[in-house]
Amino acid sequence: MTHDVIVVGGSFAGQSAAMQLARARRTVLVIDAGRPRNRFADATHGFLGHDGRKPSDIISQASQQLAAYPTIRQIRAEAVQAEKNEDGFTLTLADGQQERAARIVLATGISDELLPIPGLQQRWGKTVLHCPYCHGFEFADRQLGVLASHPLSVHQATLIPEWGPTTYFTQGAFEPDPQGAADLAARKVRIVRSPIIELLGPEPELEAVRLENGETIRMDALYVAPRSHLTGSLAQQLGCAVDDGPLGPFIRVDALHQTNIAGIFAAGDAAAPMINATLASAAGVIAGFSAHRSLAMPDA
Ligand SMILES: Cc1cc2nc3c(=O)[nH]c(=O)nc-3n(C[C@H](O)[C@H](O)[C@H](O)COP(=O)(O)OP(=O)(O)OC[C@H]3O[C@@H](n4cnc5c(N)ncnc54)[C@H](O)[C@@H]3O)c2cc1C
Repeated sequence: MTHDVIVVGGSFAGQSAAMQLARARRTVLVIDAGRPRNRFADATHGFLGHDGRKPSDIISQASQQLAAYPTIRQIRAEAVQAEKNEDGFTLTLADGQQERAARIVLATGISDELLPIPGLQQRWGKTVLHCPYCHGFEFADRQLGVLASHPLSVHQATLIPEWGPTTYFTQGAFEPDPQGAADLAARKVRIVRSPIIELLGPEPELEAVRLENGETIRMDALYVAPRSHLTGSLAQQLGCAVDDGPLGPFIRVDALHQTNIAGIFAAGDAAAPMINATLASAAGVIAGFSAHRSLAMPDA
C-alpha cells in the first residue's frame, strides 16, 4: 500500500509529526519498534501537562488520540531497509513486508552507550541519570556524583551542585583544565581521581560507589554523559547527511527539518544534539508541517 507519508518512530517526535499530517487529512503510516530512549525511566519530568507520568503512558495515550484520525495507520514493527524510488520511497520491515510512501519522516531516536561498569546499566534512568533537569529535583540535597566519560563532563559537574553536594569522578582520565578546576572549586565540587569500578546498593537504588583504590563513597545518584548512536541505519541507507554532535552523530536538517535528500524529513533526538521530550515533540510538529507543505505545494 502507498501512503502519503511514512513516519519511522512512533514516540515524542514521530507521533507529533503524524498528528499534524493526520489533521491535514494525509494518509500516514507510523512504524514503531516500541523502544523509546527514556523507557528505562519510571517518570517523565518537565513535559507540559504530563510531569511525572510514566513515559509509556504518555506515548500510548498519544497513540490512542492519533488512532481517532481516519487516515492514520500505526504498526508495531521495525523498518530495516529503505530505498528511494522514482516516485517516493520503499521501506522493508523486519518480516520482509514492504511499505511505500511519497515522503518519509525519520523520528528514530538515538541509543545510549553506557560505560561497562558493573551496576551502571541496571540503574540507568533510575539512579544513573543523564540530565538534571529531567531527574534532578527528585535527588535534591542528596549525595550526587558526575562520572566523567567526556571532556564536557567537567561542565556537567559544574552544573550539578544546583541540586546537591557534588563529587566529580575523573575516572583517572578527564582531569579538569585550570579553568575547569577553578569552576569546580568555586562550586565546592569534590574531585576524586581513583576510577569507580562498581556501583553498590540494592538495584536500582544506589548507596555507594567502589573505587579502584578500595575506597567506598556514599552516593545517591550518578550523572553520566553517554556516547550516543543513531538508532538503526535508515538515514545512512537513504544518503542523509549526518553531523557529529558533542556526544554522537545526528541527522543534518534545515530549520524546516528537511534533510539533504528531497522528500525526507527528520526530527527528535535523531536530528539534534542535546534534546528532550518537549523539544523532540516540537521538532516533530515542524517536520509534520514541512512534509505536508511539500506534498501540498511540491513546486514551492
Ligand atoms: C533515561 C532517560 C530519561 C529521560 N527522561 C526525560 C524526562 O524526564 N524528560 C524529558 O523531557 N526527556 C527525557 N529524556 C529524553 C527523551 O527520552 C528523549 O529526548 C525523547 O525520547 C526523544 O524522542 P524521539 O521521539 O526523538 O525518540 P525516542 O523517544 O527515542 O523514540 C524513537 C522511536 O523510534 C523507534 N524506532 C527507531 N528505529 C526504528 C526503526 N527502524 N523502525 C521502527 N521504529 C524505530 C524506537 O523504537 C522508538 O520507539 C530521557 C532520556 C533518557 C535516556
